[in-house]
This record gives sequence, C-alpha cells and structure tokens, in this order.
Amino acid sequence: MKRCDIGVVGGGQLGKMLLMEGHRMGLTFAILDPSEMCPAGVMAHELIHGRFFDESSIRLLAEKSHRLTYEFEHIHAESLMKLVEEGFSVMPSAETLYMIQDKYRQNMALEEKRLPVPAYMKIDSVQDLKKAADLFGFPFLLKSCRGGYDGKGNVKIDREDEMEAAFHQLEGSEQPLMGEKFVDFSMEISVIVARDHQGGTETFPVGQNIHRDNILEMSIVPAPLPDSLLEKAEALAKDTMKQLMGTGIFCIEMFVDQDNQLWINEIAPRTHNSGHYTIEACNISQFGQQIRALMGWPLEKPKLFKPAVMLNLLGDPERSGSPKLEGIEEAMKLTDVYPHLYGKAESRPGRKMGHVTILADSREEAIEKAEKVRGILKVIVWE
Ligand code: AMP
Repeated sequence: MKRCDIGVVGGGQLGKMLLMEGHRMGLTFAILDPSEMCPAGVMAHELIHGRFFDESSIRLLAEKSHRLTYEFEHIHAESLMKLVEEGFSVMPSAETLYMIQDKYRQNMALEEKRLPVPAYMKIDSVQDLKKAADLFGFPFLLKSCRGGYDGKGNVKIDREDEMEAAFHQLEGSEQPLMGEKFVDFSMEISVIVARDHQGGTETFPVGQNIHRDNILEMSIVPAPLPDSLLEKAEALAKDTMKQLMGTGIFCIEMFVDQDNQLWINEIAPRTHNSGHYTIEACNISQFGQQIRALMGWPLEKPKLFKPAVMLNLLGDPERSGSPKLEGIEEAMKLTDVYPHLYGKAESRPGRKMGHVTILADSREEAIEKAEKVRGILKVIVWE
C-alpha cells in the first residue's frame, strides 16, 4: 500500500490549514474524521471516516501514513501509545497527549518540573470543595479534568452556597474534577513553540488573547507588554517544552497576574487558534513550521512582519444553516485584511466558522482597523 506523507487525526480547520501548507510542498495526506463534510476532507488524498476514540480507525490511518499527528486532543491516546510500541511514528508524543488530556495530571507534571501553575487540588466531593475554599479563598475555579474545551467544564465559585450546584453541574460524582486558585490576571497570553527532530525549538511572538463567553475572540500581536516580560514568556514557553515530549507544534497559554508573574494555564500539543495570525503576519506560519517539524526539515526562525490582530468569525448567533461570509469586499477595502472561511457545512450559533487577520504599521492601528472589520464581516446563514 502506498502511504501518505502525513496522517492527521481530525479534519477540522487546523487540519485544513496544515494541508494547505503541505500541498505547497507536494506532500500527501490521510485524514481521519467522523464527518464526510469536514473542512480538511476536500484536500485529503485519503479520507477515513471514523471516530476519534475508535482504535481500529486510528490504526488504519497509521497504516496509510508515514507519520501521524493530530489536530485536536480529545482522541484515544492509548491507541497512539500502542502504535508507537509497534514502531509507528506519532508526533507530538502520545505520552504528552495523554498527560495534557487530564488537567490535574498536566498540573502535576508541570509542578514536578517547578513550572508555575496556579495552586490546585483534586475534588472528589462537596466536602473537598470546602477544603479548596479554605486553601484558595473565594473566588476559585472548579474544572472538569477531562474533555473540557473553550471553557466548557469550568465553573467559577464565588460563594460557599454555590459549591453544591457547581459540583453537580460538572457531574462530580462521575467525572474527575479539580479545584484551582483564581488568578486575578491582567492579561491572557499565548506562545506557539515548535520543536524539531533534534530537539531544537523556535518560538513565535507572544500574543494577547481576549476571550468572550470562554471562546477566543481576538488575539493581538505583539502582546502589549514590556519587552522584558515578552522575553520571560518566551523563555517560560521554552522551559515548558522540557516537560513536553515529541516533535511538532505546541501552544502554551499563560496568565499575567497583577505583579507581572506568569502562570501556565493550558498546553495544547498542536497548532492553536491564537497562532492563526502567523499565516499573514510572519515569515513562516505555525502550519508551515508544523510541516517542517513533522518532516524533519529545519525550522525557520519566526519573524513578525507587522503588528497583527486576529478576530474569530463565529456562526450567526440566531440561526443554524449554510454559512456565507458577508462584507468581504468592504472589509478588504480597508487593506491588509485577510479573511478565512473554513468551509464548514453548517453554521451554528457560536461555532468557529472562520477568522480574519488584520495587519497595520502599529498595534493601535491594527486594533482600530479590527474594530471596523468586526462591524463589517459577518457569518450569516443563507439557507
Ligand atoms: P480553560 O478552559 O481552563 O483554558 O479556561 C478558560 C478560561 O477560563 C481561561 O481563558 C480564563 O479566562 C479562565 N480561567 C481558567 N482558569 C483560571 C484561573 N485559574 N484563574 C482565572 N481564570 C481562569
């Protein structure tokens, strides 16, 4: 059987943008996704329909590919581990995926390496929540250890009388939970880091991330922080890589607190929404760098050409149906405005349907232009 160069678990927008880069170099791709209509499907040389927790589908993907990666983390890590034992190549490592799949496990691993994580404890009962309140004070966070994304699975607890409801809301009797000290942050930032086969790493410029309803709304690059703090964030991202095994792209999300201390919030062993700005704003995109890392080619040193703002384009808040991007011409007339629509068949309220990157000569100008673009570009439902 002729194998594809790269197999990707997941055919969403991250997979699609990876394939777009890979096609430039004539690479071939196999994709595993449960949906025939997934965004990356149209660009794949082989499309395997299967669930992400189905061992036989992941195995089939591995057999059809020279090397395997994944574009999101809620997949069967144990299947990947077995494949590695059999000699298949999985990047980033299956152990790292397994580690970050559970927030408690992730925090323990980071703490072990003396990396800064907010204080946390395991929560098995409402009684434990009382202990957490004594330890952390109010407010604090209750988090599902597994399966949470875009803030789903987090509850902020402000008062003692909210504990019981929060415990039940996150199904504490069945699901593993964790309490975490609330970080009174002044900013949320992220750093995208790539690692090559030899262990060399390259970081992309630090971005500020602004969330609305727990979904990333906007990234601003470079983050408006003093240079010394930007350097510290890049150094912390590189330090964090010592705890993460494997080759590929990683995103390290951090909080900056009121004393300018950095705290690691989350790690993604993959390309990240907050790194989309790299496509137009840098000499190499996070996807181009990912291709290089996966193929064993030399990494490029990322350079920012211009300050950038990335805005996510979410589905029409009222209706579901076929998406259409409205306002393209008017937005493009502002110049240095680059919209992306991922090709998802159905728009749903709040669903990430695309994004737009806005460049300008200064950060302030980019933000100003982004505010205009936000009023112009809309994902609407037309059918
Ligand atoms: P997560 O899904 O854990 O990344 O959390 C989603 C969002 O919840 C983050 O982007 C923060 O805005 C907020 N959050 C998570 N953990 C904390 C924390 N320990 N302190 C303050 N805010 C938090």
